[in-house]
Amino acid sequence: MAQNFSIAIHGGAGTLLKGQMTAEKETAYKNALQLALDVGYAILENEGTSVDAVEAAVRVLEDSPLFNAGKGSVFTAEGTHEMDAAIMEGKHLKAGAVSLITGIKNPVSLARDVMEKSEHVFLAGEGAMQFAQTQGYELQDKAYFYDELRYQQWQDIKGSDAFQLDHSVKKNSKFGTVGAVACDAFGNIAAATSTGGMTNKKWGRVGDSPMIGAGNYANNKTCAVSCTGSGEYFIRGVVAYDVSCLMEYKNLSLQDAAAKVVKERLLEIGGDGGLIAVDAKGNIAMPFNTEGMYRGSRKNGGSAEIKIYK
Ligand code: ASP
Repeated sequence: MAQNFSIAIHGGAGTLLKGQMTAEKETAYKNALQLALDVGYAILENEGTSVDAVEAAVRVLEDSPLFNAGKGSVFTAEGTHEMDAAIMEGKHLKAGAVSLITGIKNPVSLARDVMEKSEHVFLAGEGAMQFAQTQGYELQDKAYFYDELRYQQWQDIKGSDAFQLDHSVKKNSKFGTVGAVACDAFGNIAAATSTGGMTNKKWGRVGDSPMIGAGNYANNKTCAVSCTGSGEYFIRGVVAYDVSCLMEYKNLSLQDAAAKVVKERLLEIGGDGGLIAVDAKGNIAMPFNTEGMYRGSRKNGGSAEIKIYK
């Protein structure tokens, strides 16, 4: 094997408050994270690429109703589900992203198809759906995305101007954006992120998750990053790229750069959340400034770590 490989995943920084977490729920979250981590790790172990590993891990999380992505996506103000996703690889800096898509089971795969099968980086709304059609995607009906708890979450604020972000200080904040970052045995890194956004969102609101440089970024020279948190602040802070810049231009280590962005720069503008990051040597950083972040990581030879709180 050429070199160290590693993978990290997250299921959002919008964890249940510690007091609301039951042993049963904790087990369910941890099992879902474990499954996603195992799927991604197995690909790296078999000398697969980091792009394959992050896509596969995110697909597992998208298929779980526990997280705010794919099947578990939250309700918009219109009672629909609008999803965003992005993927980027660090060798050639290729990227693909989709936004405001509906009915797609695995948005991360559509983002990958944008990267590999279109001339573009970012497709949104109806156009993205037309592209999905050309790629043979089947649409899921509304029932596939229906979840009773999430429906109640929407009913609580429906008709108001409020929107519900998925993070810890907010009520009912149990669902989170998902993401994965990986470094493969060839030293190539990649990042993928997928989300249903915010409950009761309207006006075509798009968060940081599908925006290259804000919620998702990868560059072999520096790091691969997937973010979760209050998207508006992550966009303004250009968070994922900021971690990369601190490494590239200020020679900070992955740990130091990630911590500086999440624990200083993001807080200075009022943003809360966290991120997962790897560099091309297989190092991992997972800082967050919320009460918890659903997360997991594994380096080659090491054992898997699955955590929710600090
Ligand atoms: N960052 C996501 C967004 O703003 C939300 C999340 O991380 O849960 O759309």
